[in-house]
Amino acid sequence: MEKILNYINGELVAPLNEAYLDNVDPSTAEVYSLCPDSTSEDVELAYQAAEAAFPSWSGLSANDRSKILLRVANLIEKNTHELALAESIDQGKPLWLAKNGEIPRAQANMHFFATAIEHFASEAHPMGNHAINYTLRTPIGVVACISPWNLPLYLFTWKIAPALAAGNTVVAKPSEITPMTAFLFSKLCMEAGLPKGVLNIVHGLGPKVGSAMVSHEKISVISFTGGTKTGAEIARVAAPMFKKLSLELGGKNPSIIFADCDFEKTVKESVRASFTNQGEICLCGSRLYIEQPIYEKFKAAFVEQVKKLKIGDPLLNETKVGAIASKVHFDKVLGYVDLAIKEGGTILTGGKSFKPEGRCAKGYFIEPTIIEGLGHLCRTNQEEIFGPVVTIQPFDTEEEVLEMANSTTYGLACTVWTENLTKAHRVAGAIKSGIVWVNCWLLRDLRTPFGGMKQSGVGREGGWEALRFFTEAKNVCIKLS
Ligand code: NDP
Repeated sequence: MEKILNYINGELVAPLNEAYLDNVDPSTAEVYSLCPDSTSEDVELAYQAAEAAFPSWSGLSANDRSKILLRVANLIEKNTHELALAESIDQGKPLWLAKNGEIPRAQANMHFFATAIEHFASEAHPMGNHAINYTLRTPIGVVACISPWNLPLYLFTWKIAPALAAGNTVVAKPSEITPMTAFLFSKLCMEAGLPKGVLNIVHGLGPKVGSAMVSHEKISVISFTGGTKTGAEIARVAAPMFKKLSLELGGKNPSIIFADCDFEKTVKESVRASFTNQGEICLCGSRLYIEQPIYEKFKAAFVEQVKKLKIGDPLLNETKVGAIASKVHFDKVLGYVDLAIKEGGTILTGGKSFKPEGRCAKGYFIEPTIIEGLGHLCRTNQEEIFGPVVTIQPFDTEEEVLEMANSTTYGLACTVWTENLTKAHRVAGAIKSGIVWVNCWLLRDLRTPFGGMKQSGVGREGGWEALRFFTEAKNVCIKLS
């Protein structure tokens, strides 16, 4: 069985304790590879390699770093099929989605930050004839990047690309549920000639490897994407050590559908926004609020289209909904369906696990599920489910829907569907979330600030925000007379 290896000091190495975790293909429920069960000792080796590599990597010109990172980007493109297949098997997502969305985006992340760093500049503040201030933005040192299982290579590269481009060296941990593409990525970094120790990938469990990174006294920057509970634990450990933190956390995103929307487009895009990647995207809309005059019509059309989504083998082209990433998560999502029923919800479609015929008969599949009849304050509508489960609810006024939409502790993303420009601006301004999409979903420009309000996170990623996060600003004031 294939053994995934850590990537430390430019080499692929086994964990020091030689211990491994089973890595499961969620579409078959079979163990298909082994993932290092690393410990703090492996993290220490990775840290030492990153520390040793820092002076020369940070000392390169932006252009030299850019050239190396562009080689990595090109290799991702060249290996798109292999990476997409690995991601689909590891995570359960449809292969076509990995091939057309996630892997090209991983390539784009590397390309974007490799070129952005060449345009990254700092400010000067002249004080008349008296003095001049200029700001240095210098790389910080060894930084930690921790990423989740839902969009594995996409979110992994979203962090390490700006960290490396800015001149830091990195100790990174992908989720142990989906380690495969990070492993393949380490091979591409070797092929691209990334100097040894610049990027180090330690595989293993969050409470062992992740927490060793977070509590490491010499790693002063942590970029984390994952659940809000884990984010709180990381903040608890990191705050007294005065570490710089970027936390991209959970969401419970509202979709606000006004009666004057473009009906056909809104139904179609709402299906996509609800169930892409089995609903396992932090940006998926999971609470649909529909204005009363079109509620019944929207409900009928939405249910009809969702019923048509083909569930099953992620490797087949016609599959729209693949497997849930792990058994633990599968049980959690079905537990929320039970909760919704206990809270008085009515299942309009779905609500059960699904058994495809053939090789995926034992996999972790859940039917896309739509629930109605719940109030906006019940647990089903307040807690993140992170699966193919959404609720729908009617509203009468703009004021009412804003209150419902803003009622959770989360504030990551929102979609607004209306053809009324004035209303769109007004609602976008009143929504408490870091991202608002009007008449679209998941339309991304990598230059824009990305992140959440309230318990969806602290800080912003993307564009200059990411490069500022991964650099330290220092003001130099020179007296001129
Ligand atoms: P988790 O918070 O469970 O894990 C995220 C990462 O943190 C994993 O690599 C995990 O390792 C690691 N980890 C776990 N415990 C610790 C710890 N104590 N110290 C350091 N690291 C730790 O999230 P999931 O992997 O379950 O991902 C799903 C969550 O991610 C959802 O809540 C989703 O909304 C959120 N998310 C947010 C996004 C955003 O941009 N805001 C984007 C995508 C997802 P291990 O896997 O071993 O537990």
